Amino acid sequence: MAHENNYRDRSVLIHGKFRSEKWDFQDHIIPPITTAVSFRLRSAERGAQGFQQFANPEIDRASATPIYIYDRLDEPCQGLLEETLAFSEKGECAVSFATGMAAVAAAIDIHVKAGDHIIHHPAIYGCTHGHIHMWLARFGVEATNINLNHTDQLISAIQPNTKVIYFETPCNPTMELIDLKAITTLVKEINSTRDQESQIVTIIDNTFASPYGQRPIEHGIDFVVHSLTKHIGGFGATMGGVVIGPKSAETPLLLYRKDFGGSLSPDAAWHILTYGIPTLAVRMERQQTSAQRVAEFLDLNGKVARVAYPGLDSFPQKEIALRQMRDIDGDFAPGAMIYFELPGTPAESYYRAIKLINHIAQNSLSITLAVSLGQIRSLIEHPASMTHSVIPPKTNSKPESTPAGFDSP
Ligand SMILES: *Cc1c(COP(=O)(O)O)cnc(C)c1O
Repeated sequence: MAHENNYRDRSVLIHGKFRSEKWDFQDHIIPPITTAVSFRLRSAERGAQGFQQFANPEIDRASATPIYIYDRLDEPCQGLLEETLAFSEKGECAVSFATGMAAVAAAIDIHVKAGDHIIHHPAIYGCTHGHIHMWLARFGVEATNINLNHTDQLISAIQPNTKVIYFETPCNPTMELIDLKAITTLVKEINSTRDQESQIVTIIDNTFASPYGQRPIEHGIDFVVHSLTKHIGGFGATMGGVVIGPKSAETPLLLYRKDFGGSLSPDAAWHILTYGIPTLAVRMERQQTSAQRVAEFLDLNGKVARVAYPGLDSFPQKEIALRQMRDIDGDFAPGAMIYFELPGTPAESYYRAIKLINHIAQNSLSITLAVSLGQIRSLIEHPASMTHSVIPPKTNSKPESTPAGFDSP
């Protein structure tokens, strides 16, 4: 076997030492960042074995020593992160992605083909709406949006080709909740009459609550997706996404990631693993305390028409909130997100919001006009004209024309 002593130092500096204990993570308090794009395969046989083992449902990824090949397929920092994330949601497996949207796309797409049907709640993340209605529609996947809190409407919307029920709770941005138990009980009942091929899967985007504040798999939901960019990453410095679900989905998710290419960079995985996840609970606790005070202030403020925050007594779905929004110790966890509306007609409310946000943008130090969430700064944004502007006007409040007394933005 070749030995590094047979090479000039400069060659070893380029090619690395032949043997290194650096791949042994057992004794590292913090995992090393490993940014190699590809991995030494040692022999043709081991290379072939690596390809044979990748995304192989017969290999237990949790216990088998992986043969790493190429970062887009699998990589140690992602692997360590995925184990922790699966644990955080009490799921059987987790597959990470480059962004939350890459994870949302994977979670939905592995379950549908042309001719299939998706049901989703009307209030969903703008890009998720775009993925379903702009892209999947082009590939012959039908979608119906229906208020999932109206069980009768949901039952009549379910078709023989319905494969996915997709939603967020709390919904971005309205903070409306969906009753997890009601959905999973109904889907379980319907699935008991269907064959293996036509089972309906439930997918929830749990980004708003984070695994600190809600673990939907414990309520019978099949798949959880997260934008790791938000509460889990926690500092607004890295993007990422994850799908957590049953072991049976691990192979299709890994293959989807390999072929669509939305793999999480090891650097981002390392940051989320090292800084984001260890501080999640302490950040969420503090942000929740602040959110409660801000929501109470807004609730009592005469210039605000309506505040939606699960921690307020006025929250219309308080009973559902108390039942399913529970932190890792079992205490009520209303979260760190607040939605509020300003008074007037929809058009007046729309322009009042823009006026308020411009005032904050110019005058506030501690509230920043920016999209995203879950960072250590308080952010404010206007969904109707920003993150949710792709959602058709009937479901958001963008007016046809500027009302009297308001400047056109
Ligand atoms: C931000 C967000 C996403 C998308 O995540 P990215 O990391 O930006 O791709 C999806 N769902 C919700 C609820 C989000 O807030």
